Amino acid sequence: MDTYKKERLMTREELIQFGHQYLKGVGISSICNVCIEIGGSCCKFCDELEEGKGCKNRNTSCTAWLCGYLKLILYKAGLLDEWERFWEQIPGQAYRMDYTPAIVSIQKEIEIPSIQLLSEAFAKDLIRLNAKHKSSENIIELNDKLDQYITRFSIYTDEEILEKAKNELEELISCFYSFEFALQSSSNEK
Ligand code: SF4
Ligand code: SF4
Repeated sequence: MDTYKKERLMTREELIQFGHQYLKGVGISSICNVCIEIGGSCCKFCDELEEGKGCKNRNTSCTAWLCGYLKLILYKAGLLDEWERFWEQIPGQAYRMDYTPAIVSIQKEIEIPSIQLLSEAFAKDLIRLNAKHKSSENIIELNDKLDQYITRFSIYTDEEILEKAKNELEELISCFYSFEFALQSSSNEK
């Protein structure tokens, strides 16, 4: 849930830390572990990646960036919009680096979610689907397809085209049974 408050000043480091805490609340590690294992990591070939240690130089851009899998989780949890609106406030984002000032004024804060069960269920589906294929290419391609679909949702203005795209997305993820079950369970709890 997002909240509008008076201006709050946050340092660049606080923003990066906040982003990571938020993604921890989303349960990002379950999905990234599977993705890295099958060779789909978004950090591949980056100079900042240190073998066995991870990123040497965290930045606002990579923190704010979501791959297709994560976009889908946030979209289905109803959190994608607030995440995107939050990071729109942060200047200086660039590819694998940032020019974000040391201190940034934040008008709109968001709360850290706790939806790790959704991500765990999604990761379980990814493992099952990957085991069905000889190569991991399909699963890696799926990440890009999900990104393309969900990005389009915020661009389409024609209701009919939007509806068609949403139905195609549902078709694309129709074999994510554990994820679907987790989504239904979480909506029943509300
Ligand atoms: S592409 Fe997505 S799931 Fe894979 S490592 Fe990057 S953030 Fe994690
Ligand atoms: S700068 Fe971004 S892409 Fe490069 S290792 Fe760090 S998080 Fe990964």
